[in-house]
Amino acid sequence: MDALTTQLEQYNRDLDKFILPGTLMDCFEYHRRREMRKASAAFNDNELSWFLHMMNELRGVADRKDDFDLLFDPVMYMVDHPAWTAPPSVVVEMPPLNTEVRETVEPGTQFARIAENEAARLRTLAETYPDAAILGLANIAAAAYADAGRVFADRRSAIRYLAINASARLEDYWSEDDSLWKRAGNRRVQLSDMVAELKEQMLADQVTTAESAVTEEDLTCYSEEQIKYFAFNPDKFLLSGKTRHMTLCGFCQERIARWIDYVRKTEEQFMSEREGKLPVA
Ligand SMILES: [Zn+2]
Repeated sequence: MDALTTQLEQYNRDLDKFILPGTLMDCFEYHRRREMRKASAAFNDNELSWFLHMMNELRGVADRKDDFDLLFDPVMYMVDHPAWTAPPSVVVEMPPLNTEVRETVEPGTQFARIAENEAARLRTLAETYPDAAILGLANIAAAAYADAGRVFADRRSAIRYLAINASARLEDYWSEDDSLWKRAGNRRVQLSDMVAELKEQMLADQVTTAESAVTEEDLTCYSEEQIKYFAFNPDKFLLSGKTRHMTLCGFCQERIARWIDYVRKTEEQFMSEREGKLPVA
């Protein structure tokens, strides 16, 4: 398993726990999954599984996906992206969508040929589906890509959007050579304030931790001084009466993990310097 797959798996596990976003990437994932759930609400489970089946036919046996999160996944194109470590925020710079790259390339180039071929194949696979279904599926994809405000004029443009953006062949192209994506330039995505919204929701839902409902104080981030103090004095942290926030906030977990790492490295360096100075018998 390669490093990115491991990172993504770890990541999906972390998101299962209901905690406040720790990084900009968490904010993005929470945002897009919420938008996607809204767009999917137009269909029942059977319809959704037929859509997934159709899209997997397009992708091919080796590249099947188990759900829409992974099928319409812009994060796949974000290896080494700064959002993995940046603090939570409401704006993220994303790589362009394949359909945006398509607009920048000449007809007849390898990229254009693959893209047009994918669109033609999906047109055939989608033949039995009514227009409303195809437009609805394209809306789910646009939500998953955080492509807000995207409107599909007709069946044809919806099919192109689905086929080109979810194409396994263009993924392969990208992993061989991403220069066309770089040349097309990033897109700027505006997110809802997920930290504020989740805090509000946790208070409203009376989410419980350690058998009592969370309070506003439990949802308040530690100051930089507190984080540093707790990292150097774990025993004081346990006695501080402020431990509940740590279980709820991915951001503070990231911050304290960095300091604890720093403390450990400093201690190791100190020990090895001392050992180096021990008199030789
Ligand atoms: Zn926090």
